[in-house]
Amino acid sequence: MALVDICRLGDPILRQKAESVPKVSQKIKDLLTDLTDTMYAAPGVGLAAPQIGVSKRVIVIDVGEGLLQLVNPVLLSQSGNEIATEGCLSIPGIVGDVNRATEVVVRGLNNKGRRIEIRASGFLARALQHEIDHLEGILFIDKATNIREAPGEEDDSKKEEI
Ligand code: ZN
Repeated sequence: MALVDICRLGDPILRQKAESVPKVSQKIKDLLTDLTDTMYAAPGVGLAAPQIGVSKRVIVIDVGEGLLQLVNPVLLSQSGNEIATEGCLSIPGIVGDVNRATEVVVRGLNNKGRRIEIRASGFLARALQHEIDHLEGILFIDKATNIREAPGEEDDSKKEEI
């Protein structure tokens, strides 16, 4: 288990387009583990590799529906839309309202290198879109309205940080 520092807004790696992963090697499996451990420790519900300084197309998500580890995720389709509050582990203390699709289908490779397809709705769909944006160098503040200070530590705002 390895906890890694999370890159903050201003770090140029957050604005780079991440590279595709040619093969789910042991190095990529280790990266998935580091991302997962760091996400849970933060605590957050999603984390993309560029957020820990690795410009590769690798994400992890757990919105309370089980851990999802995805390599080279691609948004195959999206439908519906909903505006909801979002935060990001790389931009602590800030939240904003972001319009996202309510249902998505995402394809990628799992931690064994097998192709998987995920049909998601609600907050999981939102988290997938947020993390895939990270791989394009896009941050939620680029899309958000009503950007504001997050409510205090004592409430549940941390749970929205992806
Ligand atoms: Zn984020």
